[in-house]
Amino acid sequence: MERGFDQGWARDRLLERFIRYARLDTTSDRHSATFPSSAGQLELGRMLAAELHELGLAGVRPDEEGFLFVGLPANLPAGRKAAPEIALMAHLDTSDSAPGRDVRPIVHERYDGKPIRLQQDVVLDPAEFPQLERYVGRTVITSDGRTLLGADNKAGVAEIMTAAEYLLAHPEIPHGQVSLYFTVDEELGTGMLRFPRSRATARYCYTFDGDEEGVIEAECFEGYKAQLTFTGRSIHTGVGRGKLVNAIEMAARFLALLPGAESPQATDGRYGFYFPLEISGSLERAALEIYVRDFEDEEALRRLEALRRMAQAVEAAHPGGRVEVVTEKQYSNLRRYLEPVPRVLELLERAIRETGIEPVRRSIRGGTDGARLSEKGIPTPNVFTGGHNFHSRQEWAALPAMVRAVETAVNLCRLWAESER
Ligand SMILES: [Zn+2]
Repeated sequence: MERGFDQGWARDRLLERFIRYARLDTTSDRHSATFPSSAGQLELGRMLAAELHELGLAGVRPDEEGFLFVGLPANLPAGRKAAPEIALMAHLDTSDSAPGRDVRPIVHERYDGKPIRLQQDVVLDPAEFPQLERYVGRTVITSDGRTLLGADNKAGVAEIMTAAEYLLAHPEIPHGQVSLYFTVDEELGTGMLRFPRSRATARYCYTFDGDEEGVIEAECFEGYKAQLTFTGRSIHTGVGRGKLVNAIEMAARFLALLPGAESPQATDGRYGFYFPLEISGSLERAALEIYVRDFEDEEALRRLEALRRMAQAVEAAHPGGRVEVVTEKQYSNLRRYLEPVPRVLELLERAIRETGIEPVRRSIRGGTDGARLSEKGIPTPNVFTGGHNFHSRQEWAALPAMVRAVETAVNLCRLWAESER
């Protein structure tokens, strides 16, 4: 604000962009055999490339897998020390947890603070979603209740595009090399596996994929997966006494040993959990998949060890049966990659503070593409976008918060250049 960020301009550009992107169906498809999993993601990538071309960035195009990487050249005056390259990242796909075709965004200007009835059974009531109260008299955007809105992550996409346009239109704002990374199939968790790491030259990155205004997410779970296989022994029930070993009963006994107090439905805050999410089986063989989560790796490892002990206990209770436990790391806590480079968060906090509010740090009770990119050597915290109720028909976005995200991105680019002075 003190630098005269043009909020009115950003608001108009953002709104136009966001609505255009939201209308395009980019739902990722977990049953698809292609990559990216849906054609809409490629289409959105091409739309962005055409826009960037208009803005003067010629030759920008998505690769054949849908990743769109864009470089904004540094504009630092000669003689000034080079700034580290940073990247801003968002994903092009939307979740398949709610319908994403034929999205019709509704812009509620000067929101009156009352419940917003979108469909008979889809109501946004501030009593249920108190964040809405923050935007009384301001502009909020919803779907018409038949579909999700797609603010996850098109709010982030529109914000990054608008920040890029702003920087290009304001050469007086100094910045180092800035990259934009638009990714695909984030919602399926498969996008990062194909991320073209060799083309990513940024030292640090910021994903604009959070929700509540002002919030920074710099911590997520340590994620592990445990695959259990129960092997029984089948024999005719008529002669089963002392011989039959039932894998179904072994799996059931195992599940009964899991501590109910350490489940997702019994925990919040900084408590981790066991989360059994898939089971299948018959007499001879049963399979069980369990996610283990915690913010502290020692705690997660303790739970994995406990699973092995429970497996032994079940084997002991079913002589002749076997329980095999195979564990696998899924992702690491973002914190361990951000702690060695405190400036990444310090400058982000300063960038938000300069927009006129206090930043708030939160932990994600899940994983994030930022954690996966951090693992690949580019420390990446997550930044708010102003969207809410992701993956649902009640998804909504606050335009003032989206404007603030654009301003935050612009500030960040400048602050990194200034930090090297
Ligand atoms: Zn997202």
